[in-house]
Order: sequence, then C-alpha cells, then structure tokens
Amino acid sequence: MADGDNINDIIDHKLFTEEDIHNMCVRLGKELTKDYACKKPIVVGALKGAVYFLTDLTRQMDVAHQLDFIDVSSYGDGFESSGKIKVITDLSADVKDRDVLIVEDIVDTGLTMKYMKDMIHERGANSVKCCALLNKEARRSKDVTVDYYGSKVGDEFVVGYGLDFLNMYRNLQYIGVLKSEVIQKYVNK
Ligand code: 5GP
Ligand code: MG
Ligand code: MG
Repeated sequence: MADGDNINDIIDHKLFTEEDIHNMCVRLGKELTKDYACKKPIVVGALKGAVYFLTDLTRQMDVAHQLDFIDVSSYGDGFESSGKIKVITDLSADVKDRDVLIVEDIVDTGLTMKYMKDMIHERGANSVKCCALLNKEARRSKDVTVDYYGSKVGDEFVVGYGLDFLNMYRNLQYIGVLKSEVIQKYVNK
C-alpha cells in the first residue's frame, strides 16, 4: 500500500507517550482495586482495540477477577460509526448476578458502549461499569456514562496502543494523531 508502510507517513504527532499510558494504567488500576475489592468482577475486553490496554490495566488491579471478551462492531468505513451494531463474538461467561467491568480503547459517539452495557444489564448482571483508556466526550451522541477513563481527547482520529488505522498499527507503543490528509484520502474513496 502507498500510505502507511512508514509510520511517519501517517502520524501527525504523538499525543500520549508510553510513560503517559503507563501512568494512566497505574492510576486506574488503583481506583479499580478499591472499587472492586471482594467483588470478583468479570472484566470484559472489547476486541480488538482494548487488548493492549486490558493486559496492562488488569496487571495493575490487585483484585481477583475473571476475564472475558466481546467483539461488537459499529464502524462502517473505519473512521465513522455506521450506526448499526453487530455482535461478532459474544461473551462466553454467564453475567447473571455478577459485577461486570467493560474495558474499551476509546468511547466516541457512545453507541458501542451503550449497546454493550444495555446487553449485559438485560442478561441480569448485578452491575455494569466501563473503563475506557480514552474518552472522546465532545462527540458523544448516546447517553452513556464512562465510569472510568484515562484521558479525554478531542475530535481527532488516534492510532496506536490498540487503536487501529485500517486494522493496522495497533502495536505502536504510543498513541498518535492520524494525519488529516490520510483520513480524507480514505473517506473520499
Ligand atoms: P463509538 O461507538 O463510541 O462511536 O465508537 C467506538 C469504537 O470506535 C471504539 O471502540 C474504537 O474502536 C473506534 N474509534 C472511535 N474513535 C476512534 C479513534 O480516534 N481512533 C481509532 N483507531 N478508533 C476509534
Ligand atoms: Mg473499541
Ligand atoms: Mg477500529
């Protein structure tokens, strides 16, 4: 492909360094340790973007918990939500009467998070909360609470540490802002 072979071709600037991300995980881990003490929560990673955050976050949580995964897709062209949700991979755990913590890379419009929270509530969970690394609050269109988050971000497309561009670059150790001309090129196709 023409774009993206070299990461410098697609990233405008770094937004969060490895150290920034580590500090967010430590802070959130402490909060969750306090709030989930003795609750044995089910921690649900939202595939695929939350995988990197999930593994670092849970290792900062000093509470017994179970892990599960869900893959719910709302993105049409990869940049803007299609508005329709599709469950690609469902949970394997029975969430009835359990305390559930959904871990996400980023909450944007809130459509995906609202869908997951509602679905888990309907299955009889005792509580459903979420922890997102990033909170793009200005773009929220659904009424959903982001119970815990690492940082707010503005209306820009971010990549790295789980967050993808065309399903690639999730393995960047930092989080960067995608160049606007790269987005324009793909959106206008
Ligand atoms: P929402 O349903 O809240 O609009 O979108 C949620 C999902 O869209 C996120 O879990 C994430 O996968 C994707 N998304 C939203 N904003 C960004 C972004 O800035 N960068 C990347 N890579 N993905 C995003
Ligand atoms: Mg996601
Ligand atoms: Mg994506």
